[in-house]
Amino acid sequence: MDPNLETGKSDPITEKAGKTLAELGVHDEAGVQALFDEVLTMYRAEHQRVVMMGAREDPEFGKAAKALHDRWLSQKHGLIRLINDNWLRPAPKELKPLVGPQFNQLRLQPTAEIEDLQESAASVARAVAAHRSRVAGPDLTLPGYRRELGSIHPVTRVQRELEDIFLGIGFRIETGPEIESVYNNFDALNIPESHPSRDDWDTLYIDSQTLLRTHTSPVQIRAMHKYGAPLYIITPGKCYRNENPDATHSAMFHQIEGLAVDTDITFADLKGTLDFFAKKFFGEKTRTRFQPSFFPFTEPSGEMAASCPFCEGRGCRTCKESGWIELMGCGMVHPDVLRHGGIDPERFSGWAFGLGIDRFAMLKYGIDEIQHFFQSDVRFLRQF
Ligand SMILES: [Zn+2]
Repeated sequence: MDPNLETGKSDPITEKAGKTLAELGVHDEAGVQALFDEVLTMYRAEHQRVVMMGAREDPEFGKAAKALHDRWLSQKHGLIRLINDNWLRPAPKELKPLVGPQFNQLRLQPTAEIEDLQESAASVARAVAAHRSRVAGPDLTLPGYRRELGSIHPVTRVQRELEDIFLGIGFRIETGPEIESVYNNFDALNIPESHPSRDDWDTLYIDSQTLLRTHTSPVQIRAMHKYGAPLYIITPGKCYRNENPDATHSAMFHQIEGLAVDTDITFADLKGTLDFFAKKFFGEKTRTRFQPSFFPFTEPSGEMAASCPFCEGRGCRTCKESGWIELMGCGMVHPDVLRHGGIDPERFSGWAFGLGIDRFAMLKYGIDEIQHFFQSDVRFLRQF
């Protein structure tokens, strides 16, 4: 606190303001002028001291502004009030025209300036309080930030649906790295170097021994080494191929493969399991069809199709009027692949399948463009 403001009662201005002009011996214009000059000089000095306290963010700034206000503007004992009561009102007639304008100037300037000071003291106090609350922790009375919730991506949704069907019949989920060895991705799966999928055109190589897996099949090799037989797994995950993007191709896509290895596994187990799966996914009325095919890692190999769930086999745009929809490749695991997985093909046999999750999601939701899945457009994703 400024000592001058506190001890105001004993200062010369306060003493003079308590007396009339006659008592002060002021009888002419020069005397009036000198008296008011003295008051204004005093006021300006006191005002300036408080302004400086505000400028250096003195914690007593608010109190000083209040004290300055009370000393000069208080309705009961303020200096302005005293000067009005003791100098102006009892002034002799001949001095009134001189005292009046001087008094008005004295009244108006401090009133405006001191009100400004108090406003600025209040805003400093608000800033200090805000700073303290930041230091002390959040203000729990403020409204919270609303974070927009997303939804489950349609590919993830369908992946979980596919997983649930196989988890329900005793398969377990197995995953592996997306950066794979050339050996696990090709050699161990009986894919010779002459096979087209080993061309650079198809595969994204990291170096001569490492690549981005082109299918989830290497997880089958890893799982056979890890667990041995019997083995019932599905392997969901991302795969990569050097594809030009179009309506049905993407350089990154999702696959689930299934592998069953046990004693006495036959093609009948494969057909029965995949028929059960198709009925679970597309509905009980679904019929399935198996046709011969070729894959290096299965022998014999097949393509499985399901009756079109949209037209129930009568023919429509989705099934290209055939009544059938190709769902996946499958077959009995090639004995060399079992051998590469450390499993004796004389004791055990197995079947495997592989399907594209993105394609199943496109079928399920009637989406004709695979690119929609990976463009992160919320107008598309919000629909799921
Ligand atoms: Zn159809």
